Amino acid sequence: MAIRQLRQDEDAILRKKCKEVTKIDEKIEMILNDMLETLHSIPNSAAIAANQVGILKRLVVIDMEEVVMKLVNPEIIDSSGEQECTEGCLSFPGKFGTTLRPQKVTVKALNEKGEEIIIVGEDDLAKCFCHELDHLDGEVFIDKVIAFLE
Ligand SMILES: [Zn+2]
Repeated sequence: MAIRQLRQDEDAILRKKCKEVTKIDEKIEMILNDMLETLHSIPNSAAIAANQVGILKRLVVIDMEEVVMKLVNPEIIDSSGEQECTEGCLSFPGKFGTTLRPQKVTVKALNEKGEEIIIVGEDDLAKCFCHELDHLDGEVFIDKVIAFLE
């Protein structure tokens, strides 16, 4: 495993759409493990998307409340409610703002074994899913902030 370089701020790769993974092989497993190691090297971090470490593939790793998720080709298939969030991003250190996100989202993805999984996330996990899946489409939270926090 290896810690990968975190892409930040104006790095153009953060604005690019990631490509669907067509085959989960050793290379994908290695990238997921590297993403997790990179995530764990940063204090107070919860999740990372592949383009944040320079890889244009639809991969997300989440480690929240002691649950680790490695998601391949995740997509939101349902969402409901609304919540006001305080949001930040590993790629935009020191920037925090208020966003509006669904209170609950349902995500369909493949796990690292290629099995289809469905996960329902509420509150912070719903925010996290929305934030990370936005990354895969080249969207970043600062575009959605309704008020920046000083
Ligand atoms: Zn982010």
